[in-house]
Amino acid sequence: MIASVLPTYNRAPLAFVKGAGSWLETADGGRYLDLGAGIAVNALGHAAPELVEVLTAQAHRLWHVSNLYQIPEQQLLADRLVEATFADTVFFTNSGTEACELALKMARKYWYDKGQPERIEVITFEGAFHGRSTGAIAAAGSEKMVKGFGPLMPGFVHLPWDDIEAVRAAVTENTAAILIEPVQGEGGIRPASDAFMQALKQISEETGTLLIFDEVQCGMGRTGRLFAHEWTGVTPDIMMVAKGIGGGFPLGAVLATEEAASGMTAGTHGSTYGGNPLGCAVGAKVMEIVSTPEFLAAVHAKGGFLRQKLEALVAAHPDVFEGVQGQGLMLGLKCKVAPAEVVQAGYAENLLTVPAAHNVLRLLPALTISEADMAEAVRRLDAAAAALDHKPA
Ligand code: PLP
Repeated sequence: MIASVLPTYNRAPLAFVKGAGSWLETADGGRYLDLGAGIAVNALGHAAPELVEVLTAQAHRLWHVSNLYQIPEQQLLADRLVEATFADTVFFTNSGTEACELALKMARKYWYDKGQPERIEVITFEGAFHGRSTGAIAAAGSEKMVKGFGPLMPGFVHLPWDDIEAVRAAVTENTAAILIEPVQGEGGIRPASDAFMQALKQISEETGTLLIFDEVQCGMGRTGRLFAHEWTGVTPDIMMVAKGIGGGFPLGAVLATEEAASGMTAGTHGSTYGGNPLGCAVGAKVMEIVSTPEFLAAVHAKGGFLRQKLEALVAAHPDVFEGVQGQGLMLGLKCKVAPAEVVQAGYAENLLTVPAAHNVLRLLPALTISEADMAEAVRRLDAAAAALDHKPA
């Protein structure tokens, strides 16, 4: 008999009833150190007091009114995002995959309005993950995600990662946009090289092709900059954001330049819940906290601290781990065993981690994690790895 919750997830037999900072608790009082943060969502940790305060105050005032009306909380968050980034304008969604849908629509509409309706193709990359809506799975294109769900939205060109010659060869008079995660998340915590990002920008400038960055996972301070692309010195025309921006409240956004957004006039897009007062009140607080230079510098320093400890862990368990990759607090441990096995061994140590790709263990702690908790997490990872040492792969 099918489970009453549609069984599309492989769930661990763990249920948490409360959380604080980087710690989660089960009903029987078991305490787990959380290095997943809801897959890069709980940017300020669980039940962050500042967010609880804003959310409850907003809940007492107003939950929902519809985008038929002005929403001051939305305006505040949009202003903060525009002030802090390349963008001139923002549309709010509830999730990353909805942000992907709008980014794709925006790119096509841009060329349609420019009198070049044939420019519909979007170039994407191997290992990409942009969400689970039909446009987003077509964009990523991996067999695992698309099999059985056709016919898929046409117009995507899938290229190898970090191969600029392949991009040069693939950009034609039909290309609308290039869509890339500056640091791939599900694809295994793979940062695009600065040279690749800069070359994409150059191609974009030469051909008019719009650049879309998917910063759903790597954005909102996770790499030690507000957005990961800032490390590379290049900016996009359109950017998808979600996860961390709501700190745990479902919220996403598409940021764009005035030029790229020029086709999105009244009536061309909408969302009942997107930009609702509860979500935007929380998001505005998250932005206020995360976007300060002090906060971002602290994330950078924490990333350095954790990385150093992880390098030592890799050296201590050469049968289990191969290396550390990633940026800031978006780190991946390349594994010689199946990463799911390390995740399992972590559960035995009351430690939560997340697998990615076929050989990477993802570490995406709250951006507020303390040094003491990071050191404790690595001790637990050490114990988890010891349980796997010398096991044949
Ligand atoms: N883009 C990236 C880079 C992601 O990591 C994800 C989710 O993991 C998404 C898009 C989709 O976001 P959501 O699950 O909120 O639809």
